[in-house]
Amino acid sequence: MSASDRGRWLAPLLVCHYCGLAQVQRALPAPGIVLCARCGAVLRRVVPGSVTRAVHLYLAALVLFVTANLHPFLAFGLEGRGQVVVLASGIARLWRDGMPLLAGIVSGASLLFPAAKMLATLWALGPLLLGLRLPGQVLALRLADELRAWAMLDVFLLAVIVAWVKLADLATLEPGPGLWTFLGALLLATAADATLDRHDVWERFGPQTTLARIDPSGGRPVGCRACGQVTVLGPRRRWARCPRCGGPVRRPDPGAIGRAWALLSAAMAFYLPANLLPVVTVTSLGRAEPSTILGGVALLLQLHMYPVAAVVFTASVLVPIFKFLALGLLLATAQRGLSLRRRERTLIYRAVEFVGRWSMVDVFVVALLVALVDMGALATIEAGAGITAFAATVILTMLASASFDPRLIWQNRPTSGRQGHSAELASR
Ligand SMILES: [Zn+2]
Ligand SMILES: [Zn+2]
Repeated sequence: MSASDRGRWLAPLLVCHYCGLAQVQRALPAPGIVLCARCGAVLRRVVPGSVTRAVHLYLAALVLFVTANLHPFLAFGLEGRGQVVVLASGIARLWRDGMPLLAGIVSGASLLFPAAKMLATLWALGPLLLGLRLPGQVLALRLADELRAWAMLDVFLLAVIVAWVKLADLATLEPGPGLWTFLGALLLATAADATLDRHDVWERFGPQTTLARIDPSGGRPVGCRACGQVTVLGPRRRWARCPRCGGPVRRPDPGAIGRAWALLSAAMAFYLPANLLPVVTVTSLGRAEPSTILGGVALLLQLHMYPVAAVVFTASVLVPIFKFLALGLLLATAQRGLSLRRRERTLIYRAVEFVGRWSMVDVFVVALLVALVDMGALATIEAGAGITAFAATVILTMLASASFDPRLIWQNRPTSGRQGHSAELASR
């Protein structure tokens, strides 16, 4: 056996999360990214020293996030009267106004999930720096990964900017220490997330399988969705427990298409009331004016606030419609096992995954507006049923895209030399 053959057998075997192709990672660029040879998705991001950096950044982000929650976030002044709000004020106001579902969604996405993600990551990675093993580290790492889409501090910041611009003409706004520390927490957590080499982290809990360690006659190599470990599934086995993280390792399940259709239909059903019912009601000096999503955009245009109108229109109208059409197309083509434009369809799926959470911006804007404009007879903003329906649309679409298995796009492909064990190396 030549040296290059031996290297191939001993190199880590990676399976693409999007198309399911197994490939051998021979050369390790450091730092750099390894791309899938078939669909072009990122297989691995190689960042030396990322675990130590991530622990320090997350620790600092957590301290700043706790500080942000304990200090004034924004001060709002209108006609000589003023009030100060904290991060959780919107949640408290929604709860008081009898909207527990919306209060729950906002508190989860802007408070509980970000905090849980930081704590879980620290629990998983912190002991590694000290050479310790603590119970629940693997579970914490899986939880932190699951929470990535649902912890929405970045979307919340965009909402702060939108709410600020909306109110700036009518009232005075002052940032408090809570807002600055929130910004710091967001920047540090984003930097930690973007530079963490997850593959390196998982390898510390168990080495990645190599070609030499799997039995090619036993079946097809399938990747674990949570940790990326490769397990061989026999022709009759639909799933197995991942030997490294304990999560389920499944082959692509066409039954998932039905579930995704059901969730997508429910999301589309909620989109109608989300657009017809008022999202907020503004009461000023005894006059109540309900406003819908499109009504709000029209008002922003009248006030010549074009950039904010564009942000709101994109996040609340264009993005949901794009997601409905894109997911519908992906589900319909996967159902028929169509082989055309598989790479482009995978790209569409990745786009849907990426933009999904940003539609939440209008929900956070409403939470901020009801917290800030709470001045009794002078001026009050109340959340309407439309925004709950809209939040339901966003969450159901995110669940629909999460329940669709992108590997189904690549099913029924005629076997070629690039599939399975003879997969080629893709590295940059
Ligand atoms: Zn791929
Ligand atoms: Zn796993």
